[in-house]
Amino acid sequence: MEQRSLYDYTLTELTALLQSWGEPAFRARQLYRHLYVNLVQHPEQMTDLPLALRRRLAEIPLSTLHREHVQIGDNGMTRKALFRLPDGAVVETVLMVYPDRSTVCVSTQAGCGMGCVFCATGQLGLLRNLSSGEIVAQAIWASQELRAMGMAGQSGRVSNLVFMGMGEPFANYDRWWQAVERLHDPQGFNLGARSMTVSTVGLVKGIERLAEERLPINLAISLHAPDDALRSELMPVNRRYPIADLMAATRHYIAKTRRRVSFEYVLLQGKNDHPHQAIALARLLRRSAPRGPLLFHVNLIPWNPVPGTPLGRSEWERVTTFQQILTDYGIPCTVRVERGVEIAAACGQLAGRQFIPVNAVGNES
Ligand code: SF4
Repeated sequence: MEQRSLYDYTLTELTALLQSWGEPAFRARQLYRHLYVNLVQHPEQMTDLPLALRRRLAEIPLSTLHREHVQIGDNGMTRKALFRLPDGAVVETVLMVYPDRSTVCVSTQAGCGMGCVFCATGQLGLLRNLSSGEIVAQAIWASQELRAMGMAGQSGRVSNLVFMGMGEPFANYDRWWQAVERLHDPQGFNLGARSMTVSTVGLVKGIERLAEERLPINLAISLHAPDDALRSELMPVNRRYPIADLMAATRHYIAKTRRRVSFEYVLLQGKNDHPHQAIALARLLRRSAPRGPLLFHVNLIPWNPVPGTPLGRSEWERVTTFQQILTDYGIPCTVRVERGVEIAAACGQLAGRQFIPVNAVGNES
């Protein structure tokens, strides 16, 4: 049975727990503040709680993430933490700091069962789903790290959170959503819903479910190919949810939410980066878009090296040509600024192991 940490409890559950110990409800609110606002690392630091209560709280793990090491890249502005879980599984979290903001990339599963051929996590297979507390605690680590870095003007808080680390969030929907709600809670971590983005491989039922949620978090869909044959080759999930079904779910999502959807497209040399594929992608998006203003956006991602795959990274000229074609078709399109390539912290590189660079070169849009 999984070990429960303090970050696995909602405020209501913490209140019930402390009341069962004979404590008044306000103690739970104090505790919650220590966890999500003060970011304490041990109950001993909760000095406004009675000593006996602190000792009792110390019997429950604060977090079940055991940090094994942190790798640092981009002159200290990108940090990748490897955490070991009580059952021995490992997960990774990446913090990216910019002059005016910071983004944490959070994992939702240990490993991943989706098997995308270009992704290091996919090579691991699915080890297990993370608990809501294990997801939440990654954002807490990032905030603690920011504070330790003394990031002036950022108040030691992450400003953006993307669920783009290891795993497919919609394959662990219930726990993932509990984590979203806890991170958003204004009484606690207080991260705005629009500051959070979930990336899915295209699980249609998850997209439909997200359309019904009350919190307006952002949706990104991994597309990576303009046709079913190539998409099925790159992403086995396409055999279950082909492009037509995915686009129908996306239209439904936009009809319900009126929110913009991003499509992720990793560029692989000679595989999916030819100009005729850019035209096919533009046409696909044009004919799939709902009527009205275009609420689609494409994020082009130059592929990052993953050992053991026969794939290649698109030359920069091919990237810009691809982008220009989409732009000419009126599709808003950006090239993702890369971070953490030299420490294998970039998109698709998380594999729960220390990384030996393989001639990684970063590009910027
Ligand atoms: S790209 Fe995402 S969904 Fe695909 S194998 Fe990697 S972690 Fe899983």
